[in-house]
Amino acid sequence: MRAVDIIIKKRDRQKLTTEEINFFIEGYTRGDIPDYQASAWAMAVLLNGMDVEETTDLILAMARSGEILDLSSVVPIAVDKHSTGGVGDKTTLVVEPIVAACGLPVGKMSGRGLGFSGGTLDKMESIPGYRTDLSTEEFLAQLRTVGLVLTGQTGELAPADGKLYALRDVTGTVQSIPLIASSIMSKKIAAGAQAIVLDVKVGVGAFMQTVDEARTLGELMVSVAELVNRKAVALLSDMNQPLGWAVGNALEVKEAIDTLRGRVAPPDFREHCLEVAAHMLSLGGKAADGVEARRLAEQALSSGQAWQMFRKLVIAQGGDVAFVDDPSRLPSAALVESAPAPRRGYLSFINARIVGETAVLLGAGRAKKGDPIDYAVGIVLHHKVGDRVEVGEPLFTVHANDPQRLAQARRQLLEAHVWSDAPVEPLPLFYGVIR
Ligand code: URA
Repeated sequence: MRAVDIIIKKRDRQKLTTEEINFFIEGYTRGDIPDYQASAWAMAVLLNGMDVEETTDLILAMARSGEILDLSSVVPIAVDKHSTGGVGDKTTLVVEPIVAACGLPVGKMSGRGLGFSGGTLDKMESIPGYRTDLSTEEFLAQLRTVGLVLTGQTGELAPADGKLYALRDVTGTVQSIPLIASSIMSKKIAAGAQAIVLDVKVGVGAFMQTVDEARTLGELMVSVAELVNRKAVALLSDMNQPLGWAVGNALEVKEAIDTLRGRVAPPDFREHCLEVAAHMLSLGGKAADGVEARRLAEQALSSGQAWQMFRKLVIAQGGDVAFVDDPSRLPSAALVESAPAPRRGYLSFINARIVGETAVLLGAGRAKKGDPIDYAVGIVLHHKVGDRVEVGEPLFTVHANDPQRLAQARRQLLEAHVWSDAPVEPLPLFYGVIR
């Protein structure tokens, strides 16, 4: 078998066999198949798709590219969540401590920024000292003792995804149902999650643009979870406007901390986190029904227990907790400039994709593999879709370290805000749940 023939076959819209998929993933993981062939293959998959069988084969091949953890001897049930990627999506930072504070252990392996969407690891690394490279032994030990882990993929778990993820980020091959499903589910299977809440984002700021596409992705991931005896639900959630107000690594950590501490925080973000947490608690058997799960989640958040859990997590992973206790010490940008609203009216659209791309332009994401991240830069929006805004009111604030990029960001963000003279309904947070 040759890698080039498999690329050509997919280029010519043919179905790949299980053996071909295994050969490609094993060869790429070992380093026998180089990045340029994997890029061509990923582009062929993106353009020509894969059917359910091929996608299932790909998920299993990627999960088996490394070790598969069995957590049953470590915790009674390991719950996890995973987002398909969005703008301002710092949900994990709040949800996982809520769930762990309710007594359900959470061991999560997160990813880095992908294209215009932010990554949890990049966000957490804005906390000095915080380690995202725990070994499998450290992962297991911390899950047992702290009940909460938030780290990157160890080299041993789904290494095929570790390599492909970074490659897809810089080769325009993120936005593909089989590639996203295999990336997410291979990690979840390998990391031993027994109950998984999948947060499938829909809209201009997501990789799935329509509710139908998101439903297809959600159904696929839920059915593969069943196939490998894991419980899963998929929530279809809005990503037409950014989630919360902050977009950018340290800015998002600050917003998550404000939410955990019950300080002024975006209501949409808080609500989103409580819903996701409640689904995790239900799926993990911690609550008899959705109402009780929601009550537990709210109590963990309002009592400060989730905040204490977040602190424990930071300490356990080597982060300097003084920076989360006083988030003003987190990296901050040299240039902070607010833009006034150019007119009065109702906001009918805040294009999440443009906001995400603007954050990358400022330096919050990567243009190519291995690029450094500027933790300090980003954007804070001051309004959401449906808000009535007066002319001259602050519309958004740009945090930048370069004057030219700041000027360009300001122009782009003004264009991202669309106005209406007539009142506009706020956007829904969720479009459905797949069980
Ligand atoms: N999250 C992942 O882990 N992988 C993707 O491909 C997209 C989002």
